[in-house]
Amino acid sequence: MNFLFFAELCRKIESIKGRLDTIDLLSNAIREVECPDLPIFVRLILGKPFPDWSPLKLGIGPNLLYESVAYVTGRNREKVLSTLNSVGDLGRAVEEMLESKSQTSFFSEELTLAEVYSSFEAIAQAEGGKSQKERLRIIQRLFSVATPLEGHYITGILLDDMRIGVGEGNLRDAIAKAFDVDSGLVEHAQQILNDMGEVALLASQGKEALSHVRLHLFHPVRMMLARQGTISEVIADAGTIAVEYKYDGARFQFHKQGSTGRMYSRKLEDVTNSLPDVVSMLLNATDHNLILDGEVIAIKDGRPMPFQTVLKRFRRKHGVADAVEAIKLVPNVFDILLLDGEILLDQSFSERRKILTEVLRDYATPQLVSSDLIEIEQYYHQALDNGHEGVMLKLPNSRYTPGMRGKDWVKIKPEVDTLDLVAIGAEWGEGKRAHVYGSFLLAARQDDQLVPVSRVATGLSDEQLTWLYSTLKDEVIHSEGKMIFFEPRIVFEIGYSEIQQSPNYEGGFTLRFPRFVRVRDDKDIREANTIGDIEERYLTIHPELR
Ligand code: ATP
Repeated sequence: MNFLFFAELCRKIESIKGRLDTIDLLSNAIREVECPDLPIFVRLILGKPFPDWSPLKLGIGPNLLYESVAYVTGRNREKVLSTLNSVGDLGRAVEEMLESKSQTSFFSEELTLAEVYSSFEAIAQAEGGKSQKERLRIIQRLFSVATPLEGHYITGILLDDMRIGVGEGNLRDAIAKAFDVDSGLVEHAQQILNDMGEVALLASQGKEALSHVRLHLFHPVRMMLARQGTISEVIADAGTIAVEYKYDGARFQFHKQGSTGRMYSRKLEDVTNSLPDVVSMLLNATDHNLILDGEVIAIKDGRPMPFQTVLKRFRRKHGVADAVEAIKLVPNVFDILLLDGEILLDQSFSERRKILTEVLRDYATPQLVSSDLIEIEQYYHQALDNGHEGVMLKLPNSRYTPGMRGKDWVKIKPEVDTLDLVAIGAEWGEGKRAHVYGSFLLAARQDDQLVPVSRVATGLSDEQLTWLYSTLKDEVIHSEGKMIFFEPRIVFEIGYSEIQQSPNYEGGFTLRFPRFVRVRDDKDIREANTIGDIEERYLTIHPELR
């Protein structure tokens, strides 16, 4: 496929407003794409050449693009920056500047989708002292051959800033429509593979192939989640249940083959290099090839440290050895998904637990199996006394359902009403906070959109404001009056006293006395709460309005 076809499609999608029209257009295009190009096409339309868990990262900053486009068009960097300032986004600026590109080749070459993709791979694989030069050379070559429209979308992908409005939801429905398969099946395959490209390829082979999607080592799967509930309700439903401490740390998935181990975070990023100590603990704890699921906590004087301390270790890229010394981590393993080539997802939890304790010498979480309310309540209070968050109740005969917040895992913790919302904008602070953002605009999810529901200024320390400013200042998209809007990347956990209906917010609801609790750095924005969740909570308090 020519890359120009792809770029023209992106332009068309950008001009469409309605979700159904976007899905129609996308599904027709997907049907046209030939098999070898299909995974590439799908990944690029999402603007992500490599899945989050892949070790391949583009890692391109705007400077390299300024330099490349200046070189190809025979202009200087100042001209690039002034075009950028006048049109507002780098994709458009590159498009405008490439219009005036000096003819560098006598032959007019046409870029193919596969060729652009292998250039992205080469950029991600460039290593060593000369890697920056190599990246520059590859981008210059792409821009010298690209038409202005192609240059626009190459820039969007390189900067991880596609902005054509295609999210996983639209894409899932478009794939389902293109190959006449159930969109639930497409979603299930995505929970396991976490690569829409591979999912599309399976879907193109039909329902049968899609439903037999398999788990692979070093290819992380979405983690199973829990719902809220009460101990008595779960006992009434299930009788005997397995009870474990709910650790307040960071979720991990560990993959091991022979002497190689890799760790993935809840967002499925590869965090192996930040956690060499945990990797070696787990490598030494078993002789098998497997995939484990668990929670890492930080321990000091026998007590768990705050969740933020653990996340500091997950985020750490430099000075890892010092961090390993300063913050002692311990893995708590509570599930096993694959053992020596055998997939265990469909086995019962009690079977998986039995296997886990047989193959893992250390670190399996302690567990109580009981049907006695008093005994389980005592275990819950013991968990709180030991500094943990509460307990998890798990149904012994349940399957492992990747990415699902089903009925089989229930979390029990002290009642605090919080919502996970995405920070989409901010206003500058005042007084001694005038140099940082002082208040934030928060949004909930609705389909593939983010809809504002509240602002928050309370509960943020100076240190947190400084960190948020330094993280978000490079993500700014545009400003409108006093508001600054940025790329939605960060999830805030927000406490509140009450949910209220509000005509001032598009979603129809807002929060009374919103209070910042913490940054949920372990959560992807796809895991933020929805307007539907907020409405449900509202109706629970006001059942008369149902
Ligand atoms: P919360 O905000 O309450 O932490 P969450 O939205 O992060 O919840 P949930 O699915 O609601 O996620 O709760 C499950 C989380 O609890 C898991 O993702 C995991 O990180 C953590 N956890 C701690 N201990 C356990 C355990 N023993 N079994 C399963 N999950 C556990």
